[in-house]
Order: sequence, then C-alpha cells, then structure tokens
Amino acid sequence: MNELEKYLKTQIEAHGPIDVGMFMNIALGHPQHGYYMKKDPFGAGGDFTTAPEISQMFGEVIGAWVADIWMQMGSPDKFTLLECGPGRGTLMADILRAAQNVSGFRAACNVHLLEISPVLKKIQEETLKACHARADGHPAKDKEGQTPAFAGVTTIGWHQTLETVPDDVPIIVIANEFFDALPVRQMVPGGERKIDLKDDVFVFTGDGPISEVSPASISFMNDLCALMKKASGVALIIDYGYLEGSGDTFQAVYKHQYVSPLEHIGDADLTAHVDFGALKQIAFKNGVQVSGPVEQGAFLKAIGIEQRAAYLSGKTQDQDQIKIALKRLTDSSQMGSLFKVMSLHYGASISPSGF
Ligand code: SAH
Repeated sequence: MNELEKYLKTQIEAHGPIDVGMFMNIALGHPQHGYYMKKDPFGAGGDFTTAPEISQMFGEVIGAWVADIWMQMGSPDKFTLLECGPGRGTLMADILRAAQNVSGFRAACNVHLLEISPVLKKIQEETLKACHARADGHPAKDKEGQTPAFAGVTTIGWHQTLETVPDDVPIIVIANEFFDALPVRQMVPGGERKIDLKDDVFVFTGDGPISEVSPASISFMNDLCALMKKASGVALIIDYGYLEGSGDTFQAVYKHQYVSPLEHIGDADLTAHVDFGALKQIAFKNGVQVSGPVEQGAFLKAIGIEQRAAYLSGKTQDQDQIKIALKRLTDSSQMGSLFKVMSLHYGASISPSGF
C-alpha cells in the first residue's frame, strides 16, 4: 500500500466505508499525497491530454470568443478574466496571445486563476511569464515576492475558492475540464455506493443501477452564478458530459489508460462526466441565462476553428499535424461529441457566439 492507501485504510477502519465523493476528495486533494498536490498530470509523460495541450488552435479561437464578449460588454476598461482549473496555463496563454491585437483588451484584462494544485500553480507562473516575454519581447522582470505582471499591464492572481475573486468589475470565466474533477456521489437502490476494505483490498459496496450526483458541482455552480450576477459576468464551461441520466461515469486514468478507480490511488486522475442538465437547472434557479450545451465540435466550428486551421496550414510544413489536431478536437469519433460547451451570462445585451 502507498501512503495514501494507508491513510484511507485508517479512515475506513475508524469510521466505516467512505462515499465516492469523500474518496475523490482525498485521492485528489490530500495535502501531501493527493493526486493534484504532487504531480503534473499532463502530456506524454503524464496521465492525460486536454484540448489546449492538443493544439494552440483551441485557445486561439476561444481567445477570439473572449475578445468578442468583452466588446459586447462595451469594452470595459477593467475586467476580470478568470480561469477555473487552468492546468499548465496553456489555454490562458493562447487566449491572451490571440486577443493581444484587440485594441485595449490586454490593458483592461486582469487575469485570475482558480487552482488548488501547488505543482500546477508553479507551471502556470512559468507559462504566463513566457507569455509576457513573447508579448513584449523582453523576459519578465518580476521582483521577488511580487505578483508577476505580463504584457506590461495585466495583473495576475491565484485563488483557492471563488470567494476571493474580485466582483467589482465585469468578469469573463473559462472552465475547461474543471467540473469533471469535482467529486460525485453515487446512489444505488436502498442507499449510497461506498468504498470499503476487504482483506486489505479496496472494494465498492452496493449493487444495482447507479445514479450520480455532484453536490460539489452544484455548490460551485451556485457560487459561480452569484458571481455572474454581482459582476455582470459571462462564463464558458467546456467538459465531457451529458444532459440527463448517466449511470456510473466515475473513472480513473493512469498513464493514458483507463484503470479501476481503486487502483493506483493518488497516482491516477479521477473524474466523472459532468451533468450539464443539473448545472443548467442551477443557472435557471439563479436567474442566469444559459446558451447550450452544444457539442464541442459544432461550437469550435461555429467560432472559426476550421478557418484558423486553414490559416495555420498555410504557415507551416506540418499540415498533417494541424489536420490531426483539428480532427481530434472536432470529430464526433473523438472529442467533438462527448465534450459539450455551455455558456452563462447575466445582463441584457450579451449574445455569446457559437450556439
Ligand atoms: N483546464 C486545463 C486543466 C484541466 S485538469 C486544461 O484544459 O488543460 C483540472 C484542473 O483543475 C487542474 O488544474 C486541477 O489542479 C484543477 N482543480 C481540480 N479541482 C480543483 C478545485 N477544487 N479547485 C480549483 N482547481 C481545481
């Protein structure tokens, strides 16, 4: 048993079987041994790859989408651009690079990042400093202990919860593959599916059809809607998920392979598919307007990814690579259908593109 498995064992021995939500919380977030606390999960050497890591095109068209929203807001001279769960910071860097020629955008933009992983926070700092270096031609010159700034004027801040995110200026929120990381609980006939220990082996309890709920996602969505209302916000949520009725979607990925969630505990990424129907209901309850969800392939095409691919193809020798990336992001046999895109907004005059 690894250290985290030993910890789980003592918890179960002391308090009885633990629910799937608690298990996800501990496996991902345990302060020393949790998955997100200790490793960079991305890329060939990691466990999984996300859309922004597949191709810069993804972030570039989303950057244009963000710039369009900012203009629809009336080009406010200060706004918050918040990314929830920014991973390596690649999406944010691509968004900022794509939007840098939109006059006034970069000067107005304060970047905020919601991140629990200390390892990824470090990588995000590096990525966004490199973005700064690229934007103005000079390496970043951050003084010890100061908040790094990039593109001369943009400030950047990290948060562990939405509570500390500024709500006194308009806000645009991006969340790609964030909600899938929030814990789910699983209901079975007569009770809840839990994780127990049998002869020192972790096992699931409970039989029969499984239905999932994610109190953590519901609670986050309520907080996000409150922020939307206070700060006249717009949000873009992208994730794998469904509109209604899921069954068991609790999954573990280790070195690019699906494994049992009860194997490689703390070393495998744990996620569940996102219940977009439930998130939509929460938005409605809060009086926040919703566009979508639509499939990722349709959304990316509607906001111009094919044109972007054609443009990039004209500039490189490696046209095959662009073709492959485009297919991965948009084709329904790959990420195009499983992934959904939903936008939230509060305030009369906004009409998010792509829906
Ligand atoms: N959006 C990125 C990364 C997706 S992985 C991309 O597309 O590449 C999930 C991200 O959410 C990671 O950065 C992880 O550390 C972060 N995360 C997971 N749970 C979180 C929580 N409860 N609060 C804040 N960030 C969280």
